[in-house]
Amino acid sequence: MDHPPGTKIVIIGGGVAGLATAWALGQRGFRDVTLVERETKCFSVSSGQNAAILRHATDSPATRHLTRRTRDLLHRPPGDLCEQPLVDGRGLVVLEGNQETPLPWWADELIADGSCRALDGAELREKAPGFVREGARAWWFPHSGTIDIVRLGKSLEQSTRKKGVNLLLGASVQQLQVDGSGVVNGVKLEGGKVLDADLVVLAAGAWAGSLGAAVGAEFPGRPTRRHLFVTKPEQRLDPQQAIIWDDAGSFYYRPEAGGLLFCIGDQDDCLPTGASGAPNGTDPLVVRAARRGLARRLPDLNNLELARAWAAIRTVTEDDTPVVGMDPRVPGLFWVAALGGHGMSLSLGLGDLAASMIGGDLTGDPDLEAALAPDAPRRDWIPQRNWS
Ligand SMILES: Cc1cc2nc3c(=O)[nH]c(=O)nc-3n(C[C@H](O)[C@H](O)[C@H](O)COP(=O)(O)OP(=O)(O)OC[C@H]3O[C@@H](n4cnc5c(N)ncnc54)[C@H](O)[C@@H]3O)c2cc1C
Repeated sequence: MDHPPGTKIVIIGGGVAGLATAWALGQRGFRDVTLVERETKCFSVSSGQNAAILRHATDSPATRHLTRRTRDLLHRPPGDLCEQPLVDGRGLVVLEGNQETPLPWWADELIADGSCRALDGAELREKAPGFVREGARAWWFPHSGTIDIVRLGKSLEQSTRKKGVNLLLGASVQQLQVDGSGVVNGVKLEGGKVLDADLVVLAAGAWAGSLGAAVGAEFPGRPTRRHLFVTKPEQRLDPQQAIIWDDAGSFYYRPEAGGLLFCIGDQDDCLPTGASGAPNGTDPLVVRAARRGLARRLPDLNNLELARAWAAIRTVTEDDTPVVGMDPRVPGLFWVAALGGHGMSLSLGLGDLAASMIGGDLTGDPDLEAALAPDAPRRDWIPQRNWS
């Protein structure tokens, strides 16, 4: 649908989904935009609590397409956003499969476009010293790296403010407002104030589903909890080391503050509760499994101690593809949600796409828009197409 720059827009959520959309709307000349964020700072919830890895090896063609677009924007950010790259160039090793299993869906496309190449055993030992792997095949992604999520959040916020977007921090949306004919025409804040809007963008992360369901818009996303761990600093670690992600063994790690940040790939359904939406703190069983996992995968670093552990929310879909687009059932409602484990890797490309869809400056790719649509079939999914 075509919305001119004068359209009055309210965005719910100041995570990466909402802020990147606000920034890209500002770039397109939209001036009557208000972003409402419940916390007193943007990037307080999932967008500030993740592993910050730029990865595009994913089976969903739509997610892959958008993460590759974002990779280019993070390495060379637009001038209005930031003058320095927002991702380092340390590179990523992905381990998966064995010699009998077929190649992953992403492999042909990402090899062909130069995003990755196979690594031999010697190269792997050099990039992942001492790592006990499960995946037999190793792939090197030289343009992946660690995203500076603090600078990404600050740059988006500053640039968005400069473009005249109003950021309403510390304000919570209680419900979407719907007129007599079922059209969303604003939001009601806690305390009763109403903000009128021609279009409401639902970018509320783990809370998007409940806000949408209350006005009859079912959402295919599901909030899930995942833990992350950081060890105390350790001299034997190389701070420049690549990121290692073993898909076959559900384990990844990378350098962080002199120690290692790592994840054992846990995932439980959860309700977004607690301070800043933290899903009720950490689970001692997962913490114990993480200690064991680390000792098994990096036995040479046998006495690494944990410095920090936390759990955060990933809102996932069956097909690992985010939900982006006008809701076909509830006019006036636009979704940017269910970013799964890819939100930071999608960030700028996703915001840009959402803003171009709102402005009616269509992507030129109806298949891509259909895959992202709120009512797209998310089951029995076969990735049949690549968007390169
Ligand atoms: C453990 C973990 C590791 C991850 N690692 C990576 C990674 O390495 N690479 C990667 O690309 N991605 C990663 N992710 C995924 C990434 O963090 C998420 O996809 C992304 O942060 C989601 O962004 P969001 O804006 O949708 O949600 P959020 O960041 O949660 O933002 C939603 C915002 O909406 C606000 N809000 C909600 N309800 C209301 C309301 N009623 N009124 C006002 N405001 C409201 C919330 O306060 C919140 O700030 C990881 C996630 C987790 C949990």
